[in-house]
Amino acid sequence: MIIVLKNGTTPEQIKAFEDKLQSQHRVKVNIWQGVESTVLGLIGDTHQIDIESIGAQPIVESVKRVQEPYKKANRKFHPDDTVITLPGGQQIGGGIFHIMAGPCSVECESQIIEVAERVKAAGATFLRGGAFKPRTSPYSFQGLHAQGLELLRKAREKTGMPIVTEIMRESHIDMFEDVDIIQVGARNMQNFELLKELGKTKKPILLKRGLSSTIEELLMIAEYIMAGGNDNVILCERGIRTFETSMRNTLDISAVPMLKKKSHLPVIVDPSHAAGIPWMVEPLAMAALAAGADGLMIEVHNDPSHALSDGAQSLTPDQFDHVAHHVFAARDALSHLAD
Ligand code: PEP
Ligand code: MN
Repeated sequence: MIIVLKNGTTPEQIKAFEDKLQSQHRVKVNIWQGVESTVLGLIGDTHQIDIESIGAQPIVESVKRVQEPYKKANRKFHPDDTVITLPGGQQIGGGIFHIMAGPCSVECESQIIEVAERVKAAGATFLRGGAFKPRTSPYSFQGLHAQGLELLRKAREKTGMPIVTEIMRESHIDMFEDVDIIQVGARNMQNFELLKELGKTKKPILLKRGLSSTIEELLMIAEYIMAGGNDNVILCERGIRTFETSMRNTLDISAVPMLKKKSHLPVIVDPSHAAGIPWMVEPLAMAALAAGADGLMIEVHNDPSHALSDGAQSLTPDQFDHVAHHVFAARDALSHLAD
């Protein structure tokens, strides 16, 4: 961390500030005294220092981080890929490629079972489905809630597929006890109380990037969960808001290699919410695979035109068969390339 002090700061003020930084944060302080200004270089573990409170000191002109503010999620301190192992033995991360697929919302037993069976047959390894839905309109379908979770359990029992479903509030954590992967949606990415509580669990958390969150903000949120003691975080790029209007969002494909560079956590891509257009799922899925993603999350509905949410972007099971077939073929081709 580099701190530039204001002109006219006295040697006594500098000494007092240096002592405070050393004792409060246990960092080494290097001082460069120029003609015009004084610059302090903080060496050591600066990730816990609140940059805003440093900037608020009356003698401080400006302050800049040279190290990332996250440590547990940082590849610098954990060079190997994190591989998350679920109680059922499934592993996520480290080059093992998964497709999580299923409807946006769980709607009824026949729907979730039919979709689960079809996506499993096509090679999906996790069943997704929302029971609690964050909707833009309060008048839209909000999910089946506890009954939706129950139907997901039934589908898991029937197909053996582990389930991924979204949580919206911390008081529901007990209800999600036997959910295999808990999803934190884009809109809740900065629900700090929820994140802190999820940090106290050992559940794998699929953390979706907020609609207008930077990569650093996403990693800081992963850090929140990890700081609580839960290292099982999966990052998910699902498209961000840009000036482009021809798609629902813009898939930030560059986020995949950047996240992999900066963090050891698994990264998956959701091309369904990114584009909002079924025919774009395949090219975006291919791009995600080529960019190094550890998996995909794809919305599939047995009857998209009657879906209670996100029907317009959902693939039919037949369309999913094609996409999965092509993606797995591309995965195999790429793995030969890597050999
Ligand atoms: C979803 O997965 O259905 C969903 C609501 O996703 P997101 O939070 O990315 O919008
Ligand atoms: Mn959806």
